[in-house]
Amino acid sequence: MSESPHHTRLPPALYVVATPIGNLGDITLRALDTLKCVDRVAAEDTRVSGQLLAHFNISKPLVSIREHNERVAADKVIAWIAAGDAVAYVSDAGTPAISDPGARLVAAVRAAGLTVVPIPGVSAVTTALSAAGIESGQWLFHGFLPPKSGTRRAQLQTLAALPSALVFYEAPHRIEETLADMAAVLDSARPVTLARELTKRFESIVTLALADAPGWLAADPNHVRGEFVVIVHPPVASEVVVDAEAMRVLDVLLAELPPTLAAKLASKITGRSKAELYKMSLALKPQAQDDV
Ligand code: SAM
Repeated sequence: MSESPHHTRLPPALYVVATPIGNLGDITLRALDTLKCVDRVAAEDTRVSGQLLAHFNISKPLVSIREHNERVAADKVIAWIAAGDAVAYVSDAGTPAISDPGARLVAAVRAAGLTVVPIPGVSAVTTALSAAGIESGQWLFHGFLPPKSGTRRAQLQTLAALPSALVFYEAPHRIEETLADMAAVLDSARPVTLARELTKRFESIVTLALADAPGWLAADPNHVRGEFVVIVHPPVASEVVVDAEAMRVLDVLLAELPPTLAAKLASKITGRSKAELYKMSLALKPQAQDDV
């Protein structure tokens, strides 16, 4: 791995640099080194990133790359890198391409045969998860749900049966309606962690039943202020909903086989986790025991 001492030139590449989501102390040493050493910085919003650079006494030519011009701007970035420049890309906060622009640029640079170097750091999703206590370690990041309730509920429906935790981003003006839809569509007994204003002065992280979340938001106007990561915890094992096809396969196999073998084969057939199917076997046929 090459290290970059201050103000040396970096090899030509696109450096995808994560920046803080609130607390500027969360910038990494490598991010600072990279921003100091690149030839140019491409940014989602040059004003936001200009302030960040100024805070760290870094002055670089800035160019704006937003979602609407990402494809065209990518050609410029590719030309710079091909000519020998090191170019950084930063979004407004956190890790680029995580519910932020950047993915198209990265894909275009890689497709042009040029190097993309991730400079990792903060993301709201990992920050929230690190404090949520999801013991299974399984989670699905969904990012933002659609703004319209009908499509939002339909999307939630497709996630309801998954055995993992579900992680969403939400803005303050939509948090109440989104949580109301979650409580209506998902099992409202599932715990939900609301991680608000992470790394900032008024950070709050609470875990409560989904059914109680709308009431918690309504209880205090401060509760709806700020940016949110919403983590719906996994359904408890006994309530894991296995889709109808997995259940049918398991049922047929359980008529002939002990639970361990039935779960193993059902897992191969359906692609679902063996452990989850084994638990389901015992729930379907509590009297069935493997021979020891
Ligand atoms: N790229 C960013 C990342 O890596 O986390 C996410 C950018 S996305 C446009 C902004 C959303 O991320 C917010 O609406 C909120 O859901 C979440 N977010 C960003 N900063 C946050 C913070 N300090 N506390 C809680 N959520 C935050």
